[in-house]
Amino acid sequence: MKWSWKIARIAGIDIYVHATFFILIVWLSLIYWKAGGTLLAVFSGVGFILLLFTSVVLHEFGHALTARRFGIRTRNITLLPIGGVALLEKMPDDPREEIIVALAGPAVNLVIALLLFIVSGVNGAFISAEPLALADGGFLQRLMLMNIFLALFNLIPAFPMDGGRILRAILAIRMDHVRATQVAASIGQSIALMFGFLGVLYNPFLIFIALFVWIGAAAEAQNATLKSNLSGVKVGDAMQTNYEILDSDEPLSRAVDLTLSGTQKDFPVLSGQKVIGVLGQSELLMGLSHKGKHSLTSEFMQRDVQSVESTESLQLVLERFQNSDCKIIAVTESGSLVGIIDLENIIELLKIQSAMHERIRK
Ligand SMILES: [Zn+2]
Repeated sequence: MKWSWKIARIAGIDIYVHATFFILIVWLSLIYWKAGGTLLAVFSGVGFILLLFTSVVLHEFGHALTARRFGIRTRNITLLPIGGVALLEKMPDDPREEIIVALAGPAVNLVIALLLFIVSGVNGAFISAEPLALADGGFLQRLMLMNIFLALFNLIPAFPMDGGRILRAILAIRMDHVRATQVAASIGQSIALMFGFLGVLYNPFLIFIALFVWIGAAAEAQNATLKSNLSGVKVGDAMQTNYEILDSDEPLSRAVDLTLSGTQKDFPVLSGQKVIGVLGQSELLMGLSHKGKHSLTSEFMQRDVQSVESTESLQLVLERFQNSDCKIIAVTESGSLVGIIDLENIIELLKIQSAMHERIRK
């Protein structure tokens, strides 16, 4: 996500904080300063928010680590003022696994709440004046209540929130995945409208959540439809067969010639018959500015090269594009290069498909 800073890497997952999150902290500090007038009030207020967001991060780790058990990696976790987002590579295809992954987040909050209950019970926080109570209401008690709230709020069936994912998974047991996603997305958007309405009346924060749910539901529904449209198409039917290649020991000047004489921007780099990298425009420009046009292609190419067999479905290619930064994917037949494919190929194919469907309808 743009405008996000990496603050930590835990269990192999990068944690980012979005710039707007800092604005929230500054804004809240001012509110606490105005209300309390002391630095202590500010520290206690901001400290509470930071602990609350620590709970949110743990919630996201609940999803991420459970998904890992099903072999799904998490690209990163980003903290936004409205909560956290764990960017999973994909959701499990098995609805039962999706339910477990979705439940794991709220379950973490309930465990935190239980631990806080035990700790503050031992301290007698619910009976006597609590030593940590720097603002009104016991500090730990408020944190406990917020964790219970987080668990319950996330279970509201507003797809793509956790409760909505559970709903989608339950629907997907009975109907196909695309239809289940569409139904869950419409329910999610109806709830988002309600959030928006309540937000205008009571709490502006709900408006942000409404927007997040609305946009998220629309994007997921579109993505599901797209994937199902692509699932029946083979990679070989959409790939480019007319393209230029570079040899790993050719100089960058060859890439300059090819770029200027054609429209191709990303070139597969071969060593013998094997694709060992991709030279894109940014790598080319970087190489030219650092070492000049006589330096070797292999020195500057991107080494992380993705390849698929031509008989695979296009859905797999789309997933690869969504989960990596690569611009082209090499298409192979029993190991040797037969074509390349980029996102534009997929878009072209979809346009052609929909035009032909239109023709049939007429
Ligand atoms: Zn969650």
